[in-house]
Amino acid sequence: MEYYTAQKVKDAWGNKPCDHPHIEREYYSGAFLTNYICVQCGKEFTIAQKLELDEERKQLVRDLP
Ligand SMILES: [Zn+2]
Repeated sequence: MEYYTAQKVKDAWGNKPCDHPHIEREYYSGAFLTNYICVQCGKEFTIAQKLELDEERKQLVRDLP
């Protein structure tokens, strides 16, 4: 998702809670930034934060009966 689009999404979403169902790379004028963006709420994640989120989700799946 482009940086400016992400800012618009973020403004439109406001402070509602979001479980960040889909995160994609953030880019700016065709160049990839190192951050990730939640396409639903526009929240930015660093690579480390995204990996953490992935790990948490794996954990959740593993904990299901
Ligand atoms: Zn989100």
